[in-house]
Amino acid sequence: MSVRFVIDSLDFVRNAGARRDKIPVLELIRLHDLLYDQEGEVTYEISGYFDHNDKPVLYLKISGNIHLSCQRCLNKLTKNIDLQTYLLLTENETELDLNNEEDTMDAILASPELDVWSLVEEEIILNLSISSRHPEGMCKMHELISNEKDSTKASHMSHPFAALAALKKIK
Ligand SMILES: [Zn+2]
Repeated sequence: MSVRFVIDSLDFVRNAGARRDKIPVLELIRLHDLLYDQEGEVTYEISGYFDHNDKPVLYLKISGNIHLSCQRCLNKLTKNIDLQTYLLLTENETELDLNNEEDTMDAILASPELDVWSLVEEEIILNLSISSRHPEGMCKMHELISNEKDSTKASHMSHPFAALAALKKIK
């Protein structure tokens, strides 16, 4: 069982904190509904610093692979996560709203108990596209009709039986 990483966010910045660690996908509970399976792990790096305006900022980098379900063929789709984000720490809601209106850097409320794992979870969820599919031609279903030359027909393969129908047409 892994131990969650919880920081006092402002203290972390004041101490120029930095940490690099791994989280098993199994532990990223909120992601599970979106996943094909719970294999693998993600690596995160977090560091705190004051920016040129002397504002406290957390830098977060996340990388690794997770397994989604392809929306078309329902098979395993390996999604490479490689994202970086800068999060401004704000003292209160007003400051938070103000910053989000300005739309410069993402902001979160400073917290004496910031759960970094939850933060990682959130960032991954925010960065997943709503529709996840294998690239055109990479679906398992497409292999069935790999001798199909007309690529425009491949776009009609959204229904399982459509592939079968196409297969019959070829023969
Ligand atoms: Zn697919």
